[in-house]
Amino acid sequence: MLVNLKEILTKAEAGNYAVGAFNSPTLESVRAVIEAAEELQAPIILSHAEVHNEIIPIEIMGPILIDFAKRANVPVTVHLDHGSNLEIVKKAIDIGFSSVMIDASHMNYEDNVRTVIEIVEYAHRQNVSVEAELGMIASSGIGGEETKGGEPFAEGDLIDYYTDPLIAKDFVEITEIDALAASFGTVHGIYLKEPNLDFDRLCAIYKNIQRPVVMHGGSGLSEEDYVTAINSGVRKINYYSYAAKAGAYAIKDFIENNSNLFYHDLTVVAKDAIKKDVIRAMKIFLNKGEVVR
Ligand SMILES: [Zn+2]
Repeated sequence: MLVNLKEILTKAEAGNYAVGAFNSPTLESVRAVIEAAEELQAPIILSHAEVHNEIIPIEIMGPILIDFAKRANVPVTVHLDHGSNLEIVKKAIDIGFSSVMIDASHMNYEDNVRTVIEIVEYAHRQNVSVEAELGMIASSGIGGEETKGGEPFAEGDLIDYYTDPLIAKDFVEITEIDALAASFGTVHGIYLKEPNLDFDRLCAIYKNIQRPVVMHGGSGLSEEDYVTAINSGVRKINYYSYAAKAGAYAIKDFIENNSNLFYHDLTVVAKDAIKKDVIRAMKIFLNKGEVVR
């Protein structure tokens, strides 16, 4: 069933778990994510990132995501990831997305607030939830779900872009967003070095905003970091790069070990590998201490 982000995260809040948000730019990844969610009987967020319009346009992928969500026997939110402007956000809402992210974090504070308020007014009228970003979440530049201005982060200056807990309080109160994407040390894409997350900052943000926190760059962390993040207020975890990698390497392995190749067989290999990785991640996010490797 299709539900909005507020609904799915309110339940996560009550149950002290996080819902995985998986970018799904191919039919194989959508099927993998939905099958994983139904197998675990757990809620899920299907995301379409604006940058993935180059792979498959939202006009094609959006209706597919919504159809899968409606037919699923678990709650599914269909979410626009990193919408950069009003036009793409409105397009997603008009297609039927139940949640949107407006990322105006590259703007100055006043412009970010103004942009987010405009989106919230448009979205909430149609029962669509809104996530916005404050501070800046860097990208490793390798396999990222998206890149911020296309620039890989520079070592050492990452902390300058972390979310300020006091400003976060003001931001959420003024804009009335449903969830906040906060920057506290995670990086989009593949981690080039061991991540060092600022959990004190995360706790302070969560305490101040009294609303779900979203963790971007959520694949590739240790189990312990996920659990600490969830116990500190993270309710939505954006997970993509490592699942996409799992699909690709399963195909590579299959090609190396089979001589009689057909493309359709590769899609099945990819789907199964992505599904396995998504199930592994979801079990951690459910925060029940039943982690499998
Ligand atoms: Zn992101």
